[in-house]
Amino acid sequence: MLLARRHEDSEAASPQGGRADAVLRLKQVYRAIASQAPLECTLGEIARLAREESDARLAVVFVLRGEELETVAAGGELPQWLKPPARIPAAAAPWWALRGRMAEMGSGAGWAPYAGLAGGARYCWSDRLCTAAGELAGCLTLFAQRPFDEDRLREALAELAELAALAIEQANLLDELRYRAEHDGVTGLWNRQQLEERIAGLRERGGAAGAALVLVSLEGAKRVREILGEETGDALLRSAAGRLMRLPEADFAARLSGDELAVLASGGDPQQIGQHLLRMLDEPFLLDGHEIHARPAVGVAAAEADEEIRHWLRRARAATAAARARRNGGRCVVFDATLRLEALERLELERRLRGAAARGELVLHYQPQVRLADGRTVGYEALMRWRSPEVGMVSPGAFIPVAEETGLIVELGRWALEEACRQARQWELRGLPARVGVNVSALQMADAGFVDEVARALEATAVAPQLIELEITESAVMENLGQTAERMRKLRRLGVQFALDDFGTGSSSLAYLKELPVERIKVDRSFLRELEQGRAPLLESIIRMAHGLGLSVIVEGVETEQQLAALRAMGADEVQGFLTGRPMPAEDAEARRAAEGRD
Ligand code: C2E
Ligand code: MG
Ligand code: MG
Repeated sequence: MLLARRHEDSEAASPQGGRADAVLRLKQVYRAIASQAPLECTLGEIARLAREESDARLAVVFVLRGEELETVAAGGELPQWLKPPARIPAAAAPWWALRGRMAEMGSGAGWAPYAGLAGGARYCWSDRLCTAAGELAGCLTLFAQRPFDEDRLREALAELAELAALAIEQANLLDELRYRAEHDGVTGLWNRQQLEERIAGLRERGGAAGAALVLVSLEGAKRVREILGEETGDALLRSAAGRLMRLPEADFAARLSGDELAVLASGGDPQQIGQHLLRMLDEPFLLDGHEIHARPAVGVAAAEADEEIRHWLRRARAATAAARARRNGGRCVVFDATLRLEALERLELERRLRGAAARGELVLHYQPQVRLADGRTVGYEALMRWRSPEVGMVSPGAFIPVAEETGLIVELGRWALEEACRQARQWELRGLPARVGVNVSALQMADAGFVDEVARALEATAVAPQLIELEITESAVMENLGQTAERMRKLRRLGVQFALDDFGTGSSSLAYLKELPVERIKVDRSFLRELEQGRAPLLESIIRMAHGLGLSVIVEGVETEQQLAALRAMGADEVQGFLTGRPMPAEDAEARRAAEGRD
């Protein structure tokens, strides 16, 4: 804290200095940044400090938004036309060219509108704000009546500029995370959670009657990805999303997953809406000089009274599946009685899944987690697999959602926890102790008996608790922050650790992380997409800020050497992905550790 030290010195020299409160205020700025106070407040305090330090008439912090400078905070009186949130093209702001230097206003071109600013300011000092990642973030600008001693103030202003850059960087990161939490990264459409919230809102206002949920699956997209690459596949989705939004009946459009898009339409005949959308998406797309057919399958489900959202979605999905199954004609299906029968089959899956743990049909596979510093396997994530006697090996993607919907996950999760503890203990006894991550669903966290369950599993297996890491997703935490935090603290006291899973896909906020006893964040693999375009400022910021909070960072889904090298350069602590090892049976995981040698 340069500014602080300078003041302390000067106070020692002259006790009547009386500016000790600058030190305090600077501390407050640090605290405001750490607690993610609103950006205007933090920058306002910085501007006021800069003004007082320099004795300038006016200090302004401008934030760079694209090519424009936005006034966000000021110390001193701003003219009306410069008041927040005024925007000026950076190229037209004469101080933007100043880099930590003073200029006499009115001398060069462009200054005319600013002459006489704030009671006759004649001098302007400005410096650009630069984030730690090297991105331009804005500028700190002072307007003064007299030139001030630049040398004397250099360090203090540099510190204030650095703080302002940090505050802006953090605010940008939070905005970006919030946007990502609500939108789909490829198409910019809303995500599934937002769609569900929208439906819930509609219901509350009594406006759901007569609404239809239209679900589109782009059958052609998979082939496009295989033949023309991921990029073109994404471009197809984006173009399709664009057409979707032009559907006159569409109130809300979202991407649910993969090549599945959804529209919420209110009013109109469901069959007609579906047909209309089908026609729009059936027109070929022109991408990279290729004429591409998206082969849409459209399913529509009209709202039914008193129906749960997930059931409505389920019916729309069943209709889409039926549309997909029709090779010729149709390809738009409205949910009806026949489909209701098929939905019963899903109930059958549920029936079989019930008791799967007791019948010994479940297994855990273990995916290595590798420390970047030395390439050693330091842990494993336990991932569930279901060996169904009727259908063979089923992956979690197929049965976890059903288990979540039906509450069966509590039973499955209990089994996974006990099995993971047993396995971790076995490895410990063999002299190859490894941390084992166990996924915990939101429903388990919400269960009052969960803490006792964990305590029992630890006791029954005698495993060292610090070897067990519970993975919970951000969205699970946010569902009931108060209660979850309390439960997490109790569990932490038992000695187990916590990792925040799929970080960046939920309602991401770094602020609540401080409240939670979390050791590690597991950054979702969607962030690796950025890396393919070269730089990844978002990922870099996450890593830096997580480290700032004392958290370790593991990045999931690493598939290429290139991604690995970039993550190492960014300072990630660990990786987990197909490159360093797929999920494998316990024996293979053990052999791998044995081959690496003991610690
Ligand atoms: P997760 O906890 O985020 O687990 C990581 C998933 O990413 C695993 O999928 C893993 O196989 C996959 N993965 C790892 N590296 C790569 C990679 O490099 N590329 C790609 N494309 N994928 C990679 P898996 O095993 O299919 O599990 C899916 C999800 O099912 C898990 O996501 C987790 O949310 C859930 N799940 C699995 N086991 C359990 C469990 O015991 N309890 C609960 N509640 N959920 C579980
Ligand atoms: Mg996980
Ligand atoms: Mg994950």
